[in-house]
Amino acid sequence: AITPAGKAAYWMPFTANRQFKEAPRLVSGADGMFFRTPDGREVLDSIAGLWCVNAGHNRPRIVEAIQRQAAELDFAPPFNMGHPKAFELAERLVQLTPPGLDKVFFANSGSEAVESALKIALAYHRARGEGTRTRLIGRERGYHGVNFGGISVGGMVGNRKVFGAMVAGVDHLRHTHDPARNAYSVGQPAHGAELADDLERLVALHDASTIAAVIVEPVAGSTGVLVPPQGYLQRLREICDRHGILLIFDEVITGFGRLGAPFAATRFGVTPDLMTCAKGITNGCVPMGAVFARDAIYEAFMTGPEHLIEFPHGYTYSGHPLACAAALGTLDTYAEEDLLTRGSRLEPMFAQAVHSLRGLPHVIDIRNLGFVGGIELEPRPGEPGKRAFSVFLDCWEQGVLIRTTGDTIALSPPLIIEEAQLQRVIDTVAAAIRRVA
Ligand code: PMP
Repeated sequence: AITPAGKAAYWMPFTANRQFKEAPRLVSGADGMFFRTPDGREVLDSIAGLWCVNAGHNRPRIVEAIQRQAAELDFAPPFNMGHPKAFELAERLVQLTPPGLDKVFFANSGSEAVESALKIALAYHRARGEGTRTRLIGRERGYHGVNFGGISVGGMVGNRKVFGAMVAGVDHLRHTHDPARNAYSVGQPAHGAELADDLERLVALHDASTIAAVIVEPVAGSTGVLVPPQGYLQRLREICDRHGILLIFDEVITGFGRLGAPFAATRFGVTPDLMTCAKGITNGCVPMGAVFARDAIYEAFMTGPEHLIEFPHGYTYSGHPLACAAALGTLDTYAEEDLLTRGSRLEPMFAQAVHSLRGLPHVIDIRNLGFVGGIELEPRPGEPGKRAFSVFLDCWEQGVLIRTTGDTIALSPPLIIEEAQLQRVIDTVAAAIRRVA
């Protein structure tokens, strides 16, 4: 009775169909910190939907904004035209970005924002007469969505290996020089600069004049909540500056308060040249992504020689009125409830809660920053991911939604979470680890 009988199948992302077959899970409503299931259960959401519902579910300002917009202007062609809310939104957004990141390109997802940023980087160099700069550099264990550019620069080998040739000229920075010393492990060890020097290796290998951009997540989410060692992002910035390479931060997860600041760039005090976001921009309510660009990048397109400025790129739904309205309602909600910095005020409480899981069976590492935490379990021999997935299923049965990536449990609750709710999440995860892991 859970899925309608018949020939049609909803093709779920990734391998979810198989997991779904074993244990069907449906949600049919949501409010605040909770999802509701069709059979009337309430499930506490410890992952903000999918790292996106930062203000919690069903927030009145956002719902009303979407409803009003749908009745007023349902669509506006984005080519050679605009509509007032897109301009208003751009204006409001850049008040949250580090100074200088003042130009906004709208897309419809994180993956599209990433593709857009990569293309802007290449087109920028060309517009400046440096068309030889075409190489892109990502990071081992980076995640940048599922389109071809994103999986090429991404460091999840499993996501690209079945597709053959990728975007040409891509390299990946090493995740660690010493597997015994996980550079991204707890406590942010102080050798970040040393690790970032791996970029110099690639510069020496290829010559800086061929490298367009480096893209990293300031804190990697989907590959297991990996907080960089101290100084890592700062040193990447220095090396990029030295060699005329653009630095791109993929802030699809880290944007909009996740790390206790509007963006990770603010938190780390490092300003990239291009910055992507999505998810929290509309509180997950309407699909939207965006790329922020430094003024100089935008100016290159506005003032460079016409014949070099070929950047035919844009989506039918770029700056969609419903998404813009949802985003404006979202920003109002964040501002009224001071949510974009709540994660820094409550970070000690969150950190203490997550680290209280230390010492449980199979827990081998715990990582956190702001309002995101990762609890890494030792994989079952020959069954990677299965141990954490058992914990996921058990938590779901107990009425708590968590997320697992590999054998890491990720906690990334809506920023409105109360202490007692967080404690319930932690208690449920702890019980599940004891019971089924
Ligand atoms: N970049 C990062 C850092 C992400 O975490 C994600 C999604 N988890 C994406 C890109 C892709 O976003 P989307 O799923 O909206 O395409």
